[in-house]
Amino acid sequence: MTSSLWERARRAMPGGVSSPVRAFRAVGGTPPVIARARGAELFDVDGRRYLDLVGSWGPLILGHAHPAVVEAVARAARDGLSFGATCALEVELAERVLERYPFAERVRFVSTGTEAVMSAIRLARGATGRARIVKFEGCYHGHSDGLLVKAGSGLATFGTPTSAGVPAEIAALTDVLPLDDEEAATRLFEVRGREIAAVLIEPLPANAGLLIQREQFLAALRELTHRAGALLIFDEVISGFRVAPGGMTARLGITPDLVTLGKILGGGLPAAAYAGPADLMEKLAPSGPVYQAGTLSGNPVAMAAGLATLAELEQPRVYERLEHLGQELERGLVRALAEAGEPGTVARVASILWLALQPGPAPRSWQAVEPSSAERYSLLHRELLARGVYLAPSAFEVAFLSLAHTEEHVERVVTACAEALNAGARRR
Ligand code: PMP
Repeated sequence: MTSSLWERARRAMPGGVSSPVRAFRAVGGTPPVIARARGAELFDVDGRRYLDLVGSWGPLILGHAHPAVVEAVARAARDGLSFGATCALEVELAERVLERYPFAERVRFVSTGTEAVMSAIRLARGATGRARIVKFEGCYHGHSDGLLVKAGSGLATFGTPTSAGVPAEIAALTDVLPLDDEEAATRLFEVRGREIAAVLIEPLPANAGLLIQREQFLAALRELTHRAGALLIFDEVISGFRVAPGGMTARLGITPDLVTLGKILGGGLPAAAYAGPADLMEKLAPSGPVYQAGTLSGNPVAMAAGLATLAELEQPRVYERLEHLGQELERGLVRALAEAGEPGTVARVASILWLALQPGPAPRSWQAVEPSSAERYSLLHRELLARGVYLAPSAFEVAFLSLAHTEEHVERVVTACAEALNAGARRR
């Protein structure tokens, strides 16, 4: 059935998918078409089961179809699917978010991470009266025009589009810097500091592998933006609620001007948000001059899923549990790599892991990532899929553990990985 459904998908939808990475182009093969999921497992339309380490790309920190979330969603749905008006669940979730990010006094809900970041940038531009923004190579912030941009040749040249359809004029308003490099950021601020509305960064870059940043680097960005009158935006769409209740902002103790959230916030349904201090956030319409709106923003069913998810995360020791599972998986994978004689390390923060299949320490910048590791990863991915372990279909996407994973699941992944690495080595 998978193959005939996949054929129909390809005839009906570009590349057969609603989002590119799902097509498995980076690893090859036919992606399983999913029928249902529960706990830590996915089931395809042929009834094959997979131990899932993707977790819908981050939202499912409780695992699939968690009973408390499903029940909250069903209850909310019975009371109406959408009102287009402020609702109680929305107020409730807003308060829960602000408790976890105490620097923020107001939160605006939207539907996707893309929209959250795009809107935060508009707010930064509106608040500063400046046009330029800065992002980092290896960070992803959704697909709005100004963020599908790579560095031009040489520092202090203008960014250029990475997608057809993005006008060069728009890309030119974005500067792209290397991660882990205070000097480059300092030089850019010397040249253009007064034109920069905001510096945007994933404080835990998790979209080009897991490029764990030095705290001093993030502190330097805080200092540079502060001095230049620019805003610092932490994109915590992945790390928010995942690495700690208050995300990387809490872990680092560095306060941004705005934070963007998504994924876990919606508990698997479309919800995202941006938040910050009142004086800044009240510049949004209807209070202020920066316009931003949404028909389905603050949707009651999505709010219910988010609230139920955050409530489960308030249970005692859940973050310790995720840390423990993460540690176990990291140890097992490192051991499997060493035993197979495969060059590689595991980068990990809490329940986010990345297998860096390259020699030496885990890279901290995109420049330090070995492109040839992608080929080794494809091989591993195929072998693991055949053994019922579902890893992200790209070498540069991370793995997520959830509270539905157990020590036994972790052991299964490690064993499958050891077998897969040995099978790969035999084939070479
Ligand atoms: N920011 C970050 C850090 C992300 O990882 C993503 C998506 N993976 C986005 C923004 C965009 O979110 P969405 O896919 O919901 O538009």
